[in-house]
Parts: sequence; C-alpha cells; structure tokens
Amino acid sequence: MDKKYIGVDVGGTSVKLGIVDGQGNVLEQREVIYSEEKDRRSMMDVITDSIHSLADDNGGIGKFSGIGVSAAGCINSVTGSVAGNGGNVKGWSNTQVCRILTDEFGLPAALANDANCAILGELWTGAAQGYTDVLGITLGTGVGGGVITGGKLLEGAHGFAGELGHFTTHAGGEHCICGQDGCYERYASTSALIRSAEETDPGFSSGRIIFRAVEEGDQRAAAVLDKWISEIAYGIAGFVHVFDPQIILIGGGVSAQQKLLIQPLKEKVLSMIMPDFAADLQFRSAALGNNAGLVGAVYYLLSKELFSDNM
Ligand SMILES: [Zn+2]
Repeated sequence: MDKKYIGVDVGGTSVKLGIVDGQGNVLEQREVIYSEEKDRRSMMDVITDSIHSLADDNGGIGKFSGIGVSAAGCINSVTGSVAGNGGNVKGWSNTQVCRILTDEFGLPAALANDANCAILGELWTGAAQGYTDVLGITLGTGVGGGVITGGKLLEGAHGFAGELGHFTTHAGGEHCICGQDGCYERYASTSALIRSAEETDPGFSSGRIIFRAVEEGDQRAAAVLDKWISEIAYGIAGFVHVFDPQIILIGGGVSAQQKLLIQPLKEKVLSMIMPDFAADLQFRSAALGNNAGLVGAVYYLLSKELFSDNM
C-alpha cells in the first residue's frame, strides 16, 4: 500500500494541513484559522491539535509515515526548529518543531521554510517537474525564493539559504527589515510596485488595479510597471549568472500576468545575461498555488532520505 504523509503549512494567521501520498497527490486538506488572542493556545499547540484531529478523522495516526512542515520565519531545517527570528508568527521563535512532533506522534518529522517548500512542491508535482536546476522567486510583500541545484534544494549550513530578497541592488537605498539598506526586495516586491505607483496616483493601491490600468492604456501606470520589471530583472540576471538555472519560476499573486509581467521580464533578463546562459532558459509562473507549501514539505521529508525505499 502506498504510504501517506501529513503536510503542514504554517502561516502568520492560519495552518493548512493535507494528507499527501508518495506521488505528491493531496488526498484531503483543511485550514485552521489561528488568532493568538482568541485561541489562547500557542501556534505549536494549534499544529499538534490539528494533526490529531486530521489523523483521527482518517483512520488514526498509525496510517501515516511522517510529517512534513513548511513554515514562515527563519527556519533551521538542520535542527528542525525555528531560529531566533520567528517572522510574523507570534510565539514561534526558538520552537523545537520536529522534536515536539516526533515526541507527540512517534513519527519522523522535517521542517523547512515556506519559500523553500514551495519550490520543492513545484519540483515534485508543479511547473518545475523534470528540471534539476530551478530558481524560484515569489513576489509579494517581500521577495522570497528558493534554489534547486543539481536536483537538490540549496540549504546552506543551517537551512537559511535562498533568502533571495536580501542582497543589495541599490547601495545606500531604502532601509530593509533585515537591517541593511537597498535590498532587492525593497525594489522588486509587489509592495514596492504599489509604493511607487501610489506616488504617481494614490488610486493605484493594489497590484490588480495597476495591471488593469496598464491594460486600459494608462501611460503612467505602464511606466511604473516597466521600471518595476527592470528591478526584478536586475536581480534575476545576477542569480542566473550565479546558479545557471534551466528555469525561472515566478510565484505570488501577480505571477498570473503572462503578457504584462512574465513575458516582458523574460525579454529584459535575456537581454542582460551572457548569451550562453540564455540559450534555453525557461520562464514560467508557479503552478501549485495554495498547496505548494504542504506538498513541498512532504517532499522535503522524503528527500531527507528517511524513506530511501520510497524515493
Ligand atoms: Zn533586506
């Protein structure tokens, strides 16, 4: 019988859970909304209670072979714990996630950060299937990312690697949450697009409004968008020279914009990089949406070779 796993995706205000089989199919999923004030439970208690309830409704925990967790914040995937910076999840810093799950459920557990899990999900069952060298960039409030090189997730010494939003593209530029000035994400995130569009017209208050204005021929919105796409392209061109990927995957709410974002971004990047790197470089939107994190977390668990018979 095919083994089944529990995938968990921990965000700032909710926990998504799914039952995932050995091929990456999501057999069942649910979402638990978390509010620290209402719940009076820690995020970790919400996670263990939710796993108990999902397992109890599906034949008991004995039916499952492991738990993979994708989480926001700075995640040490080597120790399976949250580092000192828990991101926007309250009370999350320094939580020993894998040890708690293994003690509670008697199952192997693995933990990795959400951007890395998302790219692993895409590699397993999404838009990056069949590739070995993938650069994933997620555009949102910040810029997240993940790098697959030679078929493996680039993790670094602690599992922190892949923070693609935090390197300087503008020396002496805007201050960033990481403590530096002029980081890539201050210029290439969707928030950056909105900030600069609002300087042109306060009505340009969301990505959707800005893209619609461009479609309707608004030249001011088109100029802001073009400048933003150049900012994204500068960073990607650098990453291409460092990692030599086969495919660039763009995620985030704006990534559905093929004609107005993906296509012009591709053209700009190809014009910036050395020709040998450009020969068959692909550009795609991420495909998995909401499930990428929990599917990728299970793939991460499997790839840690706890289950070498299952790979
Ligand atoms: Zn930064």
